[in-house]
Amino acid sequence: MQNTILQDLLALSRELGREDRGLAMLGEGNTSARINPETFLVKASGTCLGTLAEGDLVACRASALLPMLEKDSLSDRQVDDALLAARVDTTAKKPSVEAVFHAWLLSLPDVNFVGHTHATTVNQILCSPRARDFSQHRMFPDEIVCCGSASVFVPYTDPGLKLAQAIRRETDACIQKQQRRPRVILMQNHGIITLGATWQSVLSAMLMAEKSAKVFVGAAALGGPVFFSAENIARIDSRPDEAYRQRALKM
Ligand SMILES: [Zn+2]
Repeated sequence: MQNTILQDLLALSRELGREDRGLAMLGEGNTSARINPETFLVKASGTCLGTLAEGDLVACRASALLPMLEKDSLSDRQVDDALLAARVDTTAKKPSVEAVFHAWLLSLPDVNFVGHTHATTVNQILCSPRARDFSQHRMFPDEIVCCGSASVFVPYTDPGLKLAQAIRRETDACIQKQQRRPRVILMQNHGIITLGATWQSVLSAMLMAEKSAKVFVGAAALGGPVFFSAENIARIDSRPDEAYRQRALKM
C-alpha cells in the first residue's frame, strides 16, 4: 500500500515538474501524500520535482508538526529542528519548510495528495492587483469541474510557519462558507496549492488553474474577463453530466 502511494506521489511530482508546463523549475514547489492518519510523505528541501526520486521523499509524523500551528512565533532554528525531529527515519533528508501546511491539508477529510507550484501564468495574476478577483470568480465550466466553484485566497505571508497558519485560517473560513473543502488555494505573490483524494485530481486542478490563468490574462487584455454569475456556477456544480466527468477524471 505504502509503495503504491509512493509511486503515485512520484508520478504527480514528475508531472508537476515537467519543464514544458512552466509550473515549477529548479527546487520550486513541493508535493505530499497521506500514508495513514499519523504519517505522510513530503518532498525533501531543495530537491527538484521534475526528477524526483524515492530518496527525495521523507516520511514525517503529523503529530510532530501540527502543534506548531498553535505557536505564536518560532525562530527559524526552532522550525528547522522541528522539521528534522518529525522524520520517521532520522537518516532521511530534511523535509521541505512547507511540510507544516502539507501536514494540515492532509488532515482534511478526503485529502490524500497535495501539490504546490509557482505556476507561471497563475503567478502573473497573483503578483498583480487582480489576484483576489481571479480566486473568487469563475469563467468557464471545466474550471468549475476541476478547480471547484471558488479558490481560497491567502494574502502574502512569510513562507513557513506564518504561511501555514494563514492557509489554515483562510481554508477553514472557506469550508465554513461553502460547506465543502476547496480544490485550489492561491497565495498572493507566491503560488498555488491543489489538493484532492487522488494524485490525478491534484494534477488536473493544477493544469486547469494554469489554463484558467491564461484565459484570465487574455480576457483581461480584451477588457474582461466576463465572469460567471453565481447562478451559472451553481448550475454547473449541480449538473449530473459534470459530476460524471468529475468521476471519470478521478476528481
Ligand atoms: Zn512555494
